Amino acid sequence: MCLRGIHKLDMRKRPRRNGVKMKIRTRYAPSPTGKMHVGNLRSALYEFLIAKHEGGDFMLRIEDTDQGRYVEGATEIIYRTLEKAGLKHDEGPDKDGGYGPYVQSERIKTGIYMKYARELIEKGEAYYCFCDKERLSSLKTEVVEGKEITIYDKHCLSLSKEEVEANLAAGKPYVIRQNNPAEGTTTFHDELYGDITVENAELDDMILIKSDGFPTYNFANVVDDHTMDITHVVRGNEYLSSSPKYTRLYEAFGWEPPKYVHLPLVTDENHKKLAKRGGSASFEDLLEQGFVTEAIVNFIALLGWSPESNREIFTLDELIREFDYHRISKSPTVFDLVKLRWMNGEYIKGMDFDTYYEMAEPYLKKTLSRELDLKKIAAMVKTRIEVFPDIAEMVDFFEELPEYDTAMYTHKKMKTNEQSSLEVLTEVLPLLEAQEDYSNDALYAVLAGYVEKKGCKNGYVMWPVRTAVSGRQTTPAGATEIMEVLGKEESLKRIRKGIALLNK
Ligand code: GLU
Repeated sequence: MCLRGIHKLDMRKRPRRNGVKMKIRTRYAPSPTGKMHVGNLRSALYEFLIAKHEGGDFMLRIEDTDQGRYVEGATEIIYRTLEKAGLKHDEGPDKDGGYGPYVQSERIKTGIYMKYARELIEKGEAYYCFCDKERLSSLKTEVVEGKEITIYDKHCLSLSKEEVEANLAAGKPYVIRQNNPAEGTTTFHDELYGDITVENAELDDMILIKSDGFPTYNFANVVDDHTMDITHVVRGNEYLSSSPKYTRLYEAFGWEPPKYVHLPLVTDENHKKLAKRGGSASFEDLLEQGFVTEAIVNFIALLGWSPESNREIFTLDELIREFDYHRISKSPTVFDLVKLRWMNGEYIKGMDFDTYYEMAEPYLKKTLSRELDLKKIAAMVKTRIEVFPDIAEMVDFFEELPEYDTAMYTHKKMKTNEQSSLEVLTEVLPLLEAQEDYSNDALYAVLAGYVEKKGCKNGYVMWPVRTAVSGRQTTPAGATEIMEVLGKEESLKRIRKGIALLNK
């Protein structure tokens, strides 16, 4: 079955309101509660891609109604991350598109949530609840998604209109609850999971307006998505179980719900949920660990979504063209750090040298304080590193010759051993002492000449020389390239040291 075909068809059937086709409008609706986790960035990316694939609008809405969870500075992280990742929003708190305010705490002041909550009360779909803490704590509880919730027994539903009026006039604290029927079923549709039907009796009368007058997420998401003309909602599948209650709200209002795409869980290598506050999986932490923005975005795009081909490297523009949300998988997806490292390495390989050098330079300077040609060293490691911090251990021998074991001079394939290496080093030393031009080419010519005279293989000479000048089994470049960077004095010092060690 060709999913792509379905996708095109589906997109032609754009959501309609009052018979009019709607422009695709998606929203990223983060709560400013801390760092921007890869799971959050994935929702934002997919929302962005769905909108941009169809020339639609991508909107930012800040959901800050849970004041207890608000973290200072978290909104700035959201702006920084979206900008850095290239997910430019068309509308948001800083860019009015006629649907504002875009921050829920500001929307509250417009009275929008109370207005709609009262409409539900009028319709019998919601009711005031004056129960105090004491009474609520005596009720049955249930654990849903790890959270203990009270199963409300509809006690206040039986209050007469007069009783409610009297309580309100007396200033008695209240919440407004959804009134779910005890009979029948509700069907919620998700684009990936299909139809999910639940017994209404299982739906708790969730709180819509809290006692502080703030709406809950459960209510605000419905009111906002509708009034902001949102056509597609992408979010983590932790919201899946509450979604039938949102369907009931849409039905009560007589509104058309948006298309929902609930995303699979992101797990660590041990198949445990990636910890939100763990830190290491936040976008900014990954940048700090030396990952490149484009690689992170590319990697995140593939956390659950796969293109038709086996291709894995995509620019953001290519993702916009290719992205088809019907190809998102429902099974949990692993945050595979090995793959991210590989992908990052591919991005580094593909970078133009100047951009690359700008990013590599701080890492080189952290490891190397001697006067060395850092650009040459950077060029040596460009195709070898996966993340920038890899640079340190690849180049630190330039700074100082590491202590090494002379057993390293023995190499089966090169047919070298400590004895042959001692002989070679002793013989090339005077040639290198006499040499003035320490460019790679000139040095190579000197050693090649020696190889020819000796009638041996290249490696028989290059191996011991490279070992002596680097003290390392693997180096990012050959013997003469290393010597070019080290310069005459340091190169000779290291070769003499090798001879001394082999003589012991
Ligand atoms: N504010 C919710 C969160 O950050 C958003 C969920 C949604 O996208 O509807 O988890």
